[in-house]
Amino acid sequence: MAKSPSTPKKHTTVTSGAADTVAASEARTALEELTQSYSFQKIEQLVEEGASAIWGGMSWEAPLLYACDTIPIGIGELWREESREAEAIGENHFQVPAEYCSMIKAMIGRLHLRKNEKIKRILYFGSTCEPISNVLELAKGDGYETYCIENVTSFKEEDKRPEVVKFLADELQKVAIWLTGKPVDEERLKFEIKRKNLISRKINRILELRLKSPFYLTSIPTLQILMGTNHNYGNPEEFIRVLDLLIEELEFAIPETRPYIPLVLAGGAAGGGGILKVIEESNAAILGWVIAGTEFYPEDIPPLEAMAHYVLDAQSRGELGEGAGTSATYRRFHIERLYKSTGARGIITSAITGCPYGSVVQQTERDYFKEQGIPIISLESSVHKERPTEEQVMRVKTFVEMLS
Ligand code: SF4
Repeated sequence: MAKSPSTPKKHTTVTSGAADTVAASEARTALEELTQSYSFQKIEQLVEEGASAIWGGMSWEAPLLYACDTIPIGIGELWREESREAEAIGENHFQVPAEYCSMIKAMIGRLHLRKNEKIKRILYFGSTCEPISNVLELAKGDGYETYCIENVTSFKEEDKRPEVVKFLADELQKVAIWLTGKPVDEERLKFEIKRKNLISRKINRILELRLKSPFYLTSIPTLQILMGTNHNYGNPEEFIRVLDLLIEELEFAIPETRPYIPLVLAGGAAGGGGILKVIEESNAAILGWVIAGTEFYPEDIPPLEAMAHYVLDAQSRGELGEGAGTSATYRRFHIERLYKSTGARGIITSAITGCPYGSVVQQTERDYFKEQGIPIISLESSVHKERPTEEQVMRVKTFVEMLS
């Protein structure tokens, strides 16, 4: 029998469209404290004290990095703060044309501004976009050392041949040697994989429980949980405790009775997540998220092979958010599965302005879903932390009204 949470949590009345009037929650407070405690400055301090950290590797590769006692830093940190200043360096110093995406300009600009700092290694997967590969070459001129995991793509089960899995497992072993000078400790990697699977199971449970009480855990904290899948806010034990608290509270949350429009969101919430608030203020709730892989690594095979299987399977499910290849081509099927399983009434896709990869993926998805009569809108934004534009707000509101 399910046990009662120590402090029963109650959903209070939700007012017109805004989803911010729920009762105080120990779990949400603990999540907030955990997210506040984690910062890039903290990682830098650890590096000062002798820890190893690199840019990149904050996706499916993260268990390998932790097994190598290396802290992966999400590339997104490069444009989290003062991104306009970094973008200007990209345009003026590196002469990246203004019409290129803000992501690439802020990225190379911030790397340049940090060239005298201690974190000087960058890991990336060969499936990344061409602009990123190009600017990483430029970063070498600022003294950065880069390492590319050769890309492997599997479009169907038959593509996942033993030699493909072995190739990718060997690539990952080379990463371990690059990081530490020796092969990975397999027992340690198995531990990291098990922990990642445990966290994914808990996150999946939260997403499932949230279907009936989506405003108990609104979009921004939900996104924080999804983003914590890989870095756990630098404190896996506390992250697991917070996830358990959330599960406990959500199990007892009063189901939402107020009418709202359920949606699927594909892509990130660039620009500080303001658009998520706009969606909720328009009386909609995001129930399906296409942003982070939440499936499981096999635990009954050697761990490097398990990682290879994970990435190849994730690609064929349309996860991982890669700009090209299987993940991008199949993303629409992943969206469709979520659309059906969550009972969503519409789809929002989001991409960075000036991203040629994002535009192609969005167009493919618009064509695909329009053919099926499924409502969809595509939004674009920059990487800068800015309020959504009037046009974006109007588009979201009109879309939700149309679905009402
Ligand atoms: S926005 Fe698109 S083109 Fe620009 S860096 Fe990101 S993935 Fe690459």
